[in-house]
Amino acid sequence: MPIILSKSLKNQIASANGLKPEQVEDELWSQSSQKCFLCDGQLNRASDTIEVDHHIPQSEGGGHEFSNIRLAHSLYNKWKRNNNTNDVAPFLRFRRFYEENGSHITFSKAQEFLNSLPKDVYTTISKDSVTFELPNGTKPKVPIFSESVGSARLNYCFVELTLDCLWNDSEVQPRDVKLNHLHAISMDLFLNPLHEQPACRLEGKKLYLFDGQHKTLAKALNGVTHATFKVYLDLSRAAATVLVNSVQAKIKKLPLTPFELAAKLTDELLDYLELYQDKVGQDKRLSKGSFVLSNNLTENGPRRLSKRRESTLL
Ligand SMILES: [Zn+2]
Repeated sequence: MPIILSKSLKNQIASANGLKPEQVEDELWSQSSQKCFLCDGQLNRASDTIEVDHHIPQSEGGGHEFSNIRLAHSLYNKWKRNNNTNDVAPFLRFRRFYEENGSHITFSKAQEFLNSLPKDVYTTISKDSVTFELPNGTKPKVPIFSESVGSARLNYCFVELTLDCLWNDSEVQPRDVKLNHLHAISMDLFLNPLHEQPACRLEGKKLYLFDGQHKTLAKALNGVTHATFKVYLDLSRAAATVLVNSVQAKIKKLPLTPFELAAKLTDELLDYLELYQDKVGQDKRLSKGSFVLSNNLTENGPRRLSKRRESTLL
């Protein structure tokens, strides 16, 4: 398949780089290192539909010089639209990894992609504070709080952690990573950075993440290296299961933003939908794309955020 290139763009690229129009495609190909600049995957000139994209969009003053022109898989380039490459490229690389792994990956597999395999964490707990010893060598000391859940009194703290501190609590939270949900949170975090903290529990030398897996991954994909987590100090696996399985418990932990509430309810609904489909078999009318979520990854692409993000800073 040829590189998709309009005649006028071909002429503009040719004149900006001192070439003849018929030389443009071969020159683009040799400059590309045969890699898609969005997902970093191999481009196959014979079988892939390949598009030309401007690293800095033309609408933001980007020119037609080779230094600003890249080749990309058509699917990803359509999805990127006018978004800034740096905002969407990490997510697209993750998406390619996700698809290469059969579109079923666990939180732990995603940690592999992010080069953040979990390690042990050491803790010293005193009467009213806890000192952590994290894999990066830092030793944060934070106060202990407590709350009542049902008849139990639970001790917890808030601490800044890196992704490599966290083991997925796979028995409490066995769900695979959902790409649509991950993308929605990733985009929402740009606008609303103050989401509720993900929750984990300490057991021996391990911190098990049992709530907020998607939020945690979304932050990492957005380039956030440290985030605050709620750490329960004496919550058993069984008690965590009760906590996470009760919609009531999730909603009780108000205030959630309307987005978080919707995302959690959507998750609950999707879980029931999966159970239902397991029982009765797949039905096109009940596919996730048409039922709960708009199929925004393949058709509409992400919302354009940078203008609004600027306005929130003003
Ligand atoms: Zn690609």
